[in-house]
Amino acid sequence: MPEMLKPIRLALLALLIAAGAEAGAAPCPAAGPLSVQVLGSGGPIADDGRASTAYLVWIDGAARILIDAGGGAFLRYGEAGARFDDLDFIGLSHFHTDHSADLPALLKSGFFSRRTRPLPIAGPSGAGRFPGLSGFLSAMLDPERGAYAYLSGYLDGSGGLVRLEQIEVPNSSASPVALPAASNEQFVVEALSVPPGPVPARAFRLRVGETTLVFASDQNGSNPALVDFAREADLLVMHMPVPPDADEVARKLHATPEAIGAIAQAAGAKTLLLSHFMARSLANLDANVGIVQSGYSGRVIVAEDLLCVPLL
Ligand SMILES: [Zn+2]
Repeated sequence: MPEMLKPIRLALLALLIAAGAEAGAAPCPAAGPLSVQVLGSGGPIADDGRASTAYLVWIDGAARILIDAGGGAFLRYGEAGARFDDLDFIGLSHFHTDHSADLPALLKSGFFSRRTRPLPIAGPSGAGRFPGLSGFLSAMLDPERGAYAYLSGYLDGSGGLVRLEQIEVPNSSASPVALPAASNEQFVVEALSVPPGPVPARAFRLRVGETTLVFASDQNGSNPALVDFAREADLLVMHMPVPPDADEVARKLHATPEAIGAIAQAAGAKTLLLSHFMARSLANLDANVGIVQSGYSGRVIVAEDLLCVPLL
């Protein structure tokens, strides 16, 4: 981007963030009874100056839900002031590194907590070259063959570690899957299969009281069921790592800005949080956001690491 355009871009970003009402940097715990915090707003290439994908849901001042744990999430988790003891659910959308690589670091951190209750964790079933949740966790935690066998207590609750309650979400692209084992008196979790090319992935929908949060994850916009899944969401998080002129390979993995705007509009989402940027989508961010807004009439917020979005 030419130097002379940078102030314009910054001004636009400031407007977008201002349009997000109280959305701003940390601290999130005191922002209100329900907030979503971006831990990582970047992608899989270390060229964007951001942590990879991760989000926290704060309920009554505690970080109860973690969606994804890409590289950098470990650092941001601590910076956000989140505590492992408070987690009620981890949702992993898929097993690309930019969504899962920091999970073992966070688990190790949990060893030093006072937590004793099990921790529900959900992820997709396997397909092709990708393991399902149980295979992914076994590859790390199996007491004999796991790369982090010293953390194997997470499989059975031994060794001062808490048991991970594994919830493998089957492929079901036409309709949502309820996850009662991940739900509790504070929130209800559902998942929907989304298609980022050949990678098994799941979007998550959280209903916290009357508020609906949808994390669409990496997806290419080709599953029409996503519109219903995100229907009238109070917050819809969508990933925009590619520009409108992305090549065919990129389009198999990710929706273009035009497709993102169309989905958010069709769903009637009240607020759209754009995230998962890469250098190639940041290079022309103002124009790409403009494309989204040309098809979507709701509120748009552009994610940054540690951005807090109060919802109540
Ligand atoms: Zn990704």
